[in-house]
Amino acid sequence: MKFCSHCIVDGELRPIIETFGQVENSCPVCGKRKAFIYDTDVHSKLTDNFEQLFEIYTPEFALPHDFPAEEKKLLVTELIDRWHIFNDKLSSTDVYRIIRAVCAEKYTSMPSLFDAPIGIAELNDTEFLRAHSLLRSNSWNDFVKSLKEQNRFHTNHIEFTILDRYCSYIRKVYKKGTVFFRGRLSTEDGFPAEDMSAPPSDKASAGRVNSAGIRCLYLASDLDTTIHEIRAGVFDYVTIGRFELTQDIVVVDLKAIDHISPFIEGLDPLEHAINKEHLKRINLEIGRPLRRSDSILDYIPTQYIADFIKSIMYEGKPEYAGIEYNSTINQSGQNLAIFYPELFVCTGVEVYHINELSYGKEKL
Ligand SMILES: [Zn+2]
Repeated sequence: MKFCSHCIVDGELRPIIETFGQVENSCPVCGKRKAFIYDTDVHSKLTDNFEQLFEIYTPEFALPHDFPAEEKKLLVTELIDRWHIFNDKLSSTDVYRIIRAVCAEKYTSMPSLFDAPIGIAELNDTEFLRAHSLLRSNSWNDFVKSLKEQNRFHTNHIEFTILDRYCSYIRKVYKKGTVFFRGRLSTEDGFPAEDMSAPPSDKASAGRVNSAGIRCLYLASDLDTTIHEIRAGVFDYVTIGRFELTQDIVVVDLKAIDHISPFIEGLDPLEHAINKEHLKRINLEIGRPLRRSDSILDYIPTQYIADFIKSIMYEGKPEYAGIEYNSTINQSGQNLAIFYPELFVCTGVEVYHINELSYGKEKL
């Protein structure tokens, strides 16, 4: 069977096909022209990768009796939904045919792995979860309760060595000169550039990434996201500052959590399967807009995690300058929380008048 490098979106597997594949006119699966083609009759480089990943799965007949029915899935569904290995254009039949061809021997010896429901037995094993979960009790709500109500600064609910390792998988470099934006509600006259950075420590209020008194510069990738994030009302005036990065930096890109490849060398796919939902939750919580009814205590869990990320050192220096996360208010935008506001300089301001606002709604 033949397929191409565009059929695969996984960041570790795609380069393998681009290295070993032959360029052919078009891919018989996705139709891509002039693509690197992987031919299972000739190539075998991907077989080990997939077979190692399949080792975390147990066929239905061998799963414990109390394994939850809703956690049983087909292998194809796992590869598409949990691991995001294949291009969205491919149907589940395409994916099934590809893995069956890549792992032909495995299919012959164990067809039930491919054709019947499977599960990750450890997802239901309390002892295993306690030893390998980023959150000791494997529950975000327990972690939040512990921080809010029991021990604010020395909780043992989070496993920092795991969090540290995952941050290293989702590093993102920004080059000097990159531009981001910050907005402030203002008057028609706007603010001067020197008043557009993060407030001084004595005026720094608590946010998702910083505790009160700790400076943090919240930036957005574009004008629309900036206006959405400050939640400007109709007829408000908004001053938008253009911020330019003064040196190369590394940030933790929480948005990339869903796309960490299970094939990264040194990454244990079983541990990843266990922690992926927790990591996604951290991204969601940091990006979640506050409602008026929320308490300042609701910031604490993400502040705690951000403080840890800020504390990670490499060769005596802080490793990460900030955290990037999805904007939940403007789906196409990204936000950047910078731990050291002086890394960016405000190079210009513009004042906008909000003349129209549209509300989205859904019936509850
Ligand atoms: Zn293709």
